[in-house]
Amino acid sequence: MSLSDTVSQVFQNEFGAEPTFIVRAPGRVNLIGEHTDYNDGFVFPMAIDRATFIALRPRADKRVLAISPDMDDRRDFALDDLRTPAETEWIDYLVGVAWALQERGYDLCGWDGVVSGDVPIGSGLSSSAALELATARAFYEVSGFAWDAAAMALACQAAENEWLGVKCGIMDQMISAAGVEDRALLIDCRSLETATAPLPPGTVVVILDTNTRRGLVDSAYNERRAQCEAAAQHFGVKALRDMDLGTFLEREQELDNVIRKRASHVVSENTRALSARKAMEEGDADLLGQLMIASHISLRDDFEVSSPALDAIVDCANAEAACYGARMTGAGFGGCAVALARADGVETFVARVGACYREATGNQPIITVTGASRGAETIYP
Ligand code: ADP
Ligand code: MG
Repeated sequence: MSLSDTVSQVFQNEFGAEPTFIVRAPGRVNLIGEHTDYNDGFVFPMAIDRATFIALRPRADKRVLAISPDMDDRRDFALDDLRTPAETEWIDYLVGVAWALQERGYDLCGWDGVVSGDVPIGSGLSSSAALELATARAFYEVSGFAWDAAAMALACQAAENEWLGVKCGIMDQMISAAGVEDRALLIDCRSLETATAPLPPGTVVVILDTNTRRGLVDSAYNERRAQCEAAAQHFGVKALRDMDLGTFLEREQELDNVIRKRASHVVSENTRALSARKAMEEGDADLLGQLMIASHISLRDDFEVSSPALDAIVDCANAEAACYGARMTGAGFGGCAVALARADGVETFVARVGACYREATGNQPIITVTGASRGAETIYP
């Protein structure tokens, strides 16, 4: 049974009626442009074919009742009495989105709904953004305001930053809001302008989950952000996005060595993301793969956010004939890598990378081939 059928079925069992709407919003994988979003730079993610679904019906009052079969939980809250969470639970993502939308002047109506998703939680594919955008889409259907993907992404990012207290850039919410089927989405994280590009013909994207998670991610993330800000401040620019590679290479010795390495990653990664667009438009899988390989080396050696497990799975992937290039993806220190592989060799690729990684680490990876899906949408009626 598809997830859409599941939420519909659970809704009927719980409420004794058909849902009025079913909405969905996807998780994402970033092909290139890592740790560039909070530097006002470029990212190049695609929405994956895993998503969070909500089956819902409007309510006459200003309350939301949400049932989560995944969490085996049912919770409700009042839109005119939102409570700040002491410790984050799943419902707080819905509350946070309601808060952010109301802060921005949207007049929200209540709903009854069933929420379920298959974006793996906490593996770096952004199940949180999927839940946020699905929630925004639910409010859109019952409240009748205009849907603007960028405005919804910004509201959901504000929910995550300000309500849930998680610092993140705009990438996750923007791709979950604005993803396009069979396309990757180049996002300018300053203007929020987007451009789509197709994957090179005959290639597929493979997600390589190392099945490792590390703590310390938050503190390391905040430290990297501060280091990037320090570099931008030194050069007198608003963000590292404003440093072109030529000027940076002339002046990089002015920086303290650690700050220099961090900035070197961001400045070079921005140019790689832009080159990736050209590679995709020209159908040049070799070039796109080379850019991904260079991105990983830069993240590993200069930004220093990789991990032994990520390096192992990337090395296993890059050793395969069917692989154009692989790199860690997401914040780092564990979670997933992403590879561009030849479609006609992908079964062998998946089997061999799995065996290689197990051999190298003793860990069982989770490897999935994914298509590029649409962003947040209503799928019923
Ligand atoms: P990720 O990297 O997957 O975004 P986060 O820690 O940012 O990890 O967000 C995961 C949290 O989002 C979960 O702990 C849960 O509270 C919430 N969440 C995500 N997907 C769902 C879902 N399908 N149902 C309920 N809660 C979910
Ligand atoms: Mg998240």
